[in-house]
Amino acid sequence: MSEDFKYNVDSDGVAFITWDVEGKSMNVMSREGFELLDTLMDKALADEAVKGIIITSAKKDFAGGMDLNVLGAIREEAGDNPAEGLFNFTMEGHRVLRKIERAGMEAKTNKGGKPVAWASPGTSAGIGTEIGLACHRRFVADNPKAKIGLPEILVGIFPGAGGTTRLVRMMGAMAASPLLLEGKMLAPAKSKAAGVIDEVVPADELLARAKDWVLNASHDDIIKPWDKKGYKMPGGAPYSPAGFMTYVGASAMVHAKTQGVYPAAKALLAAVYEGALVDFDTALKIEARWFTSVLMNPSSSAMIRSLFINKQALEKGAVRPDVPDQSVKKLGILGAGMMGAGIAYVAARAGIEVVLIDQTLEAAEKGKAHVEDILNKGVQRKKVSAEKAQEIAGRVLATTDYEALQGSDLVVEAVFEDVGVKADVTRRAEAQLGEEAIFATNTSTLPITELAKASRSAEDFIGIHFFSPVDKMLLVEIIKGRKTGPRAVAKALDFVRQIRKTPIVVNDARFFYANRCIIPYINEGLRMVHEGVYPAMIENGAKQLGFPLGPLQLNDETSIDLGVKIAKATKAAMGDSYDDSADEVLFKLFDEGRLGRKSKAGFYNYDEKGKRQGFWEGLRENWPPKDDQPDFMDVKHRLAMIQTLEAVRALEEGVLEDIREGDVGAILGWGFMPWSGGPFSWLDILGAGKAVEICDDLKARYGARFEAPALLREMAEKGESFYGRFGADSNAA
Ligand code: NAD
Repeated sequence: MSEDFKYNVDSDGVAFITWDVEGKSMNVMSREGFELLDTLMDKALADEAVKGIIITSAKKDFAGGMDLNVLGAIREEAGDNPAEGLFNFTMEGHRVLRKIERAGMEAKTNKGGKPVAWASPGTSAGIGTEIGLACHRRFVADNPKAKIGLPEILVGIFPGAGGTTRLVRMMGAMAASPLLLEGKMLAPAKSKAAGVIDEVVPADELLARAKDWVLNASHDDIIKPWDKKGYKMPGGAPYSPAGFMTYVGASAMVHAKTQGVYPAAKALLAAVYEGALVDFDTALKIEARWFTSVLMNPSSSAMIRSLFINKQALEKGAVRPDVPDQSVKKLGILGAGMMGAGIAYVAARAGIEVVLIDQTLEAAEKGKAHVEDILNKGVQRKKVSAEKAQEIAGRVLATTDYEALQGSDLVVEAVFEDVGVKADVTRRAEAQLGEEAIFATNTSTLPITELAKASRSAEDFIGIHFFSPVDKMLLVEIIKGRKTGPRAVAKALDFVRQIRKTPIVVNDARFFYANRCIIPYINEGLRMVHEGVYPAMIENGAKQLGFPLGPLQLNDETSIDLGVKIAKATKAAMGDSYDDSADEVLFKLFDEGRLGRKSKAGFYNYDEKGKRQGFWEGLRENWPPKDDQPDFMDVKHRLAMIQTLEAVRALEEGVLEDIREGDVGAILGWGFMPWSGGPFSWLDILGAGKAVEICDDLKARYGARFEAPALLREMAEKGESFYGRFGADSNAA
């Protein structure tokens, strides 16, 4: 029997149903928990001594949401008919929340019933908020860290426990859309202004205020607007002039944002629209049907697996070696440029003392000024208080003095991408460090094993590869050199946990994992330009696959000169086996001085302010569009497959040790088709057989780079899937 909720009735006849899942810092809804909530509601409604009910939490927050593993379990239990199992489960959820909402009222007359208040001490997400929406009045403590919302869409589903139907009926489709379609979580005051909650109260008065309301609520207060006669949908029903504008507009907006590749966004919109045409209980049923349809879509299971279950597992140390805690207390950073300053910011924000070193005091202070700039923006946007910002900036010491590194337990080097410069700073820093300290490099292209040669201990040397801009990018790639030891890996992982990012751990090989996949993606775009494929077709192909940036725009952002540098270095390293078919386009832009966004000229034109305009006319002049343009699907397959094959090769070669890291890293690192769950999940959706077919076809027409790796071919022959073969905990080949 679950004990997730406690029950007690006070001397004034108010029943408290208090959520407090044992052994967890955040409440998460399990099936047993839900059954218990149902039982306790029955108990409170049946007890004549109970005048009203308060649903609250004994923790600092209300809830993190549903345990999404439950959905997988239900699907499995349902055997041959998973859709039926999922639909019944969803309808059961509606029954319980509708019970809270009706609170014992007679169906036709609305007579009877008891007031039910929701009292949240802090954050509430997903099912937590949906419980709140079913209650008659919502109180949230004035907790600066609290956020209230329904973020389901971010993991590929949508609020399916009545949250969609209730929110739209409370505030109208237009007002509900940022919450439902973008999964926006709001601070208490904003949540109240939006009409999601009713009252923001001092934390120490939360229960007293809720109780006061419960004991004084009128009968009218507890009947939801949609259960009263003459209810009208705020913002207008679909077949009204305002409603027509809303739904047609929303449909176009959603399509523009999602390119139609996210089944959850479409299903959500359908549930909202169809639900708005019928009575409340039918709308819940429609919501359940669309929710089931989304859960049955392989894209949703893949997104849940990568973006929720596996992302969390990696953050909690799924691949961490078993060594004692290695949390960082004092961090040294060498090089206060774009990356060094970004790393200083995220570390100081996490409470770590930072020494930021550069060649001149001016350069070091410029790095610190960058930290302060980010903080000031945060203050302006009310994301952080002025005092807190000052406290964070106060943790960063900008200096040229290597002695200041003494006592650091981790040093991250982010100086120029040059072996000699890196070796020099490694030696100078290590001369100041205690034996326990770990040395890390943020290099994006140089082999870790080579750089480790400058270190006093290759065992304590590791790659910690951040992405730019450091404050925004969620992924950190940790790279083991050939001799890197477990304590260095644990240190890097503990550091990434402290700064609240998601880590993947890979082995040392050219371009590690992320860049290994991104570079071929950019190059495939360049090749198509060279072949005379319309640039718009290339960019739109990428966007319609769900990539945030097309390969040409991405090249403008990362800069053409960096591309040239990488191309030259790769050619030097690979010799004859180097494929130079992308270089003509790249080098032409470089020669023209079109270095990308930073020079306000690249594949695109930019205006004075740096705003991106249309394509550079020179593309058409230098590489005229060919008459027989390829099939659009061809373009998409080339862009998606070229990087996916690189991910498979990384697995085959042991650069990746775990496909979960390959999938999570691809989505968080470079926005790889999030709807697919990542490259390995995408191949599983396609099926290895189909994937090999696509590769064979592309190879025949475009070249050997599309050769299906032996591993994929073997899997196609055996009818295997990646998650079947390399599933959750098993290591790769
Ligand atoms: P940057 O040019 O902005 O910064 C480098 C800084 O290092 C400069 O401030 C420079 O003065 C300082 N520096 C150079 N030699 C030094 C020395 N001997 N001692 C102390 N400081 C010295 O470069 P960046 O973009 O921040 O890149 C730094 C490192 O991070 C490189 O290894 C790069 O490959 C890697 N990296 C860059 C990105 C990116 O997107 N820019 C992404 C991941 C990794």
